[in-house]
Amino acid sequence: MPAAVSQTHQRHWSLARRLLWISLAVVLGQSIISMVIATTLRQHLMTGLLKGTLQRQSLLALHKVNNQLDQLTATQAQVCCSPPDYQRFLQPLRLNDGKAALILGSAGLVSTPGSRTLFKRDQLLDVAEQAIHAAEGFTIVDTNAQEAVAAKAIKLPGGQQTGHFVYLRPVYAMPAVKAQSLIKLGAELILILLTGGVLVFSARRIFRPVRSLSQELASIELNTLDGATLPTDKAPLELLPILNEFNGMVERLRRSAANQKQFASTISHEFRTPLTVISGFIQSVLNRSEGLVDKERRALGIADLEVLRLNRMLSDLLDLSRADNHQLAIRQEPFELIPSLEHALRLARAAHSNPISDNLSDLKATTVVGDSDRLVQCIGNLIGNAAKYSKTKTPIAVQVTCTAAQVSITVRDQGQGIPNNQLERIFERFTRAEGVSLPYRQSSSGLGLSIVKMLIEAMGGTVSVESTVGEGSAFSLHLPLSPQP
Ligand code: ADP
Repeated sequence: MPAAVSQTHQRHWSLARRLLWISLAVVLGQSIISMVIATTLRQHLMTGLLKGTLQRQSLLALHKVNNQLDQLTATQAQVCCSPPDYQRFLQPLRLNDGKAALILGSAGLVSTPGSRTLFKRDQLLDVAEQAIHAAEGFTIVDTNAQEAVAAKAIKLPGGQQTGHFVYLRPVYAMPAVKAQSLIKLGAELILILLTGGVLVFSARRIFRPVRSLSQELASIELNTLDGATLPTDKAPLELLPILNEFNGMVERLRRSAANQKQFASTISHEFRTPLTVISGFIQSVLNRSEGLVDKERRALGIADLEVLRLNRMLSDLLDLSRADNHQLAIRQEPFELIPSLEHALRLARAAHSNPISDNLSDLKATTVVGDSDRLVQCIGNLIGNAAKYSKTKTPIAVQVTCTAAQVSITVRDQGQGIPNNQLERIFERFTRAEGVSLPYRQSSSGLGLSIVKMLIEAMGGTVSVESTVGEGSAFSLHLPLSPQP
């Protein structure tokens, strides 16, 4: 039964992202504190500046109001003042940019024309009263952040009834304040962007060694362990222990892999001779002994098949260990494709009961480059698998197609098929596809396809596979055509 694969999708945390967030929080906190300090300082400075400005402007306006007051006759001064009088006093003032003036006395509150579009009566009254009662008649009323109003109140000459003259203007509408706010906002934005940029840049630089390390690690494979040690000369101090540990581990693995290869090679050599002797004895007993009963003949037949299977497995192991030691001799010479394929098909038809069709009769003579015997071996492996993983007597098709540069030989079966996520794995050594079951009394070493791949690639070709579970598989060998003489 295939082992159940449990896949847990864990979310991993990123060191870089965490560092980035912590730095951003620190920078943000720092910005807020410095903003609070700067705002407090600015308010103090602004108050002084506003006081001076309002003092100057209100005195100019007051001068015009006083002129009106001075023009009153003694009798008029006696009955002063009514709201129309206040209105007349304020008449000469031409105020814009949100500036306003008012007189608040026993006759009530009268403000300059236009001021009522900017301020509500209640607001005017509130600001005026606060200014009148403030020290030096100056106040800043913070209605809300955008509507802070600075006001200066001055007692008009004359009796109680002449009241107070109040000059007011919104703080944020003042060009100096506006400019200062804009500069401050701009500077803060630039600072935040700059800090963010520097942080991202630094994080990328800090983690560059980790990224390049992971790329180097990804390129390491079991059969490339020889040059797999990671360089430590330019590594950062923090990574050094990990790198040293890793290099030590690679060295141990390399030694162990070399031992394994040596072991496989020795075993294959040592086993082959006795197996050949056993097989020879079985054959001679089977051929010569007339007096064998059926049961004994069957038992010897099974023993012979098992010896054959062991022999094949040992040849595979020997091939792989020779390939690992670069000692596998594979010819790279032009040969006629059709006779080789006919030979491979003859062997396969003798070995398997499945009907095997082919399209060789449609082909014209084709010369490919490689090793004819090894190609026969590869096709034998593929047809063997096709038969092994299909029901008895299910048809197998061998199709050959030619393009200008290469020839493709496809072995197609109507067997179990292979799950998509296993298609890459099956070319690895000692690997069986999960989800494909091994039929009763069949053996599997997981070596066949890795040998096919290794041999075909050594001939300058490639191997590919397409498969649908329940419908079957198609394995293709692609070999380069021999250049025309
Ligand atoms: P083996 O057949 O000895 O196990 P191979 O390397 O030839 O080793 O094949 C690896 C695995 O690929 C097999 O174990 C099997 O699961 C799968 N496989 C190969 N050929 C086929 C096929 N024609 N149909 C279904 N599965 C296949």
